[in-house]
Amino acid sequence: MNAPSLTLTQCLSQAHAQGLARVDAQMLLLHSLGRPLHDRAWLLTHDSDTLTPAQQATWQAALQRRLAGEPVAYITGRKDFFGLTLSVDARVLDPRPDTETLVEWALAVLPAAPAPQGLRLLDLGTGSGAVALALQHARPDAQVWAVDASADALAVARANAQQLNLPVQFVQSDWLSAVPGVFDLIVSNPPYVAEGDPHLSALTHEPLQALTSGADGLVDIRQIIAQAPGHLAPGGWLLLEHGWNQATAVQALLAQAGFTEVQSRQDLGGVDRCTGGRWSR
Ligand code: GLN
Repeated sequence: MNAPSLTLTQCLSQAHAQGLARVDAQMLLLHSLGRPLHDRAWLLTHDSDTLTPAQQATWQAALQRRLAGEPVAYITGRKDFFGLTLSVDARVLDPRPDTETLVEWALAVLPAAPAPQGLRLLDLGTGSGAVALALQHARPDAQVWAVDASADALAVARANAQQLNLPVQFVQSDWLSAVPGVFDLIVSNPPYVAEGDPHLSALTHEPLQALTSGADGLVDIRQIIAQAPGHLAPGGWLLLEHGWNQATAVQALLAQAGFTEVQSRQDLGGVDRCTGGRWSR
């Protein structure tokens, strides 16, 4: 016998009873119904609708995956970032709203008017392409390059660029080792979690190489800071996302490397989340 058909209200209460956050349950339900994920108001006006058996099967499977800790974005296959809808899956880090701080700051340091000689921007460790695509979308006049060491991640990022019709250029490279030329701005959301950080137990569905960076979480940030000066135009900026407790360390690394105007920016939670500086030589 088929399971009795559930109403939308019953689905949401079922998820609530199992401890799922309301917004997660709403997104998974919209996904199961084939509706746009931002259409949460629609759920309210259709709360007594019942699911078809196929929708109900999709819903139950989605609910189980989320309860097992998988990010909503991997289950729905989509994530909104800086106003763009990206396709995401387990080959790439789930883009965080915190990383929008990095994009906002990057856009703020760029000259407002199109530069006569053209702007060159670089995103290191692009993953889904989130940061590079957001920059290219906001600055169609810029040449945006994006790098990742993972061929799998680059496949996801390239597909997003194609889907969004944004002309970002992708390079497979271990940080800057295979990147040609100099840039006016280099941004990165590199791996920065310390190996053995207890926080990792909540992130087991995401690629570990996108998350961890040695015993103190700073191994990749040190490499980027060492390599960036050779690829920055005079006055170019290097802006880095980092862990909640790493701002002081990253400021010191940038200052020691000879960067000027070293400063940090806070994420939505009021945590110093990005630190950067300018290469003035
Ligand atoms: N912001 C992620 C987290 O702490 C980590 C992402 C990263 O290492 N770049 O959950």
